[in-house]
Amino acid sequence: MDAGIAGVTTTLAELGEPAYRSRQLLEAYRRQPLALEPAISAWPLRLRQAFFEHHRWHWFKTAEGYIDPEDATRKWVVTLADGKRTQMVMIPDEDRRTLCMSSQVGCAMACSFCSTGDMGFARNLSPGEIVGQWLTVDSLLRQDDGRGLTQTVFMGMGEPLHNEDNVRTALRWLTDADGLAISPTRFTVSTVGIAAPLERLIEETQVNIAISLHAAESELRRTIVPAERGLEAAEIRQMLLKHRQRFSRQRRLTLEVVVLPDVNTDAKAANALLAFAKQLPAMVNLIPFNPYPGSRYARPQRAQLLAIQNRLKHAGIACFIRRTRGQNILAACGTLNNSTSGEYSISGTIN
Ligand code: SAH
Repeated sequence: MDAGIAGVTTTLAELGEPAYRSRQLLEAYRRQPLALEPAISAWPLRLRQAFFEHHRWHWFKTAEGYIDPEDATRKWVVTLADGKRTQMVMIPDEDRRTLCMSSQVGCAMACSFCSTGDMGFARNLSPGEIVGQWLTVDSLLRQDDGRGLTQTVFMGMGEPLHNEDNVRTALRWLTDADGLAISPTRFTVSTVGIAAPLERLIEETQVNIAISLHAAESELRRTIVPAERGLEAAEIRQMLLKHRQRFSRQRRLTLEVVVLPDVNTDAKAANALLAFAKQLPAMVNLIPFNPYPGSRYARPQRAQLLAIQNRLKHAGIACFIRRTRGQNILAACGTLNNSTSGEYSISGTIN
């Protein structure tokens, strides 16, 4: 796959260039995404030549691409400069094109229902590697039909707030006026809820926030989200309450719940979720569990999802069931794993 200018900041650093060069490049991309070379007229000729002749493509040539034959969701596995690999997913939906980006190679949170968690943690992605994912996919789409990405979610591999500095730098490059100048409300950071970095993200940025809650009772949450130890759901709730005015129709707060049959589908779990969501300016997103090789849960029944949704709706809480996308290529939520890329045949669907 030959697409765009990913690895851009890493490349510029390799060339011994100062950080402002990265900004100049992003600013040029914003003005002329597909004709960068003339757009970076501020660069000395020597640098332009070195960059475009030798480095422009180094990140992409190795990317493996997959496409889901059923729903056109696309996934790419990219090999980074040190040979480690990361993955990103693009989900088309009418006029929307959502990029699901990674923040780490692997993940340290070890949630019991997540294939990336099974991989363990390898390393953080740099700001350049994070922004590079965005540039890769955006430029590829533009080359195809002139339209780029519309939304971006940090829901790929990794826990974004476990890599706070690099994720925050990447968000600045993507949203600052002298970077790509994309509205922060087009970004969503999904997190298990690491208290201090989460509070900073809420206070200091305008991005949408999604909290991977899964269970509102600490005892149950601890069994499926080991990171619950030391960052209790109740504390997260207090903090969200304190900042409730920072959320609006433009800047959304979402509570994510992976629905695991017989684990968090009973009335007790639904009532606890209801109590958690009350008074918060949040909507609840139910994510049907996506199976993957070696996974230990079953896919929920439609009726189980609807029962939770109805319980919340009757109490006046907005609740949606996330449509599963990219399941035939292991691109669905929680199924990204470097040892199992590509086609996956699944048994049973929920619809
Ligand atoms: N580390 C971040 C991003 C994870 S991916 C976080 O925890 O929020 C985005 C969502 O997919 C999270 O809510 C995550 O818990 C969920 N998820 C993980 N594994 C899943 C699976 N097998 N099926 C469905 N959703 C899953």
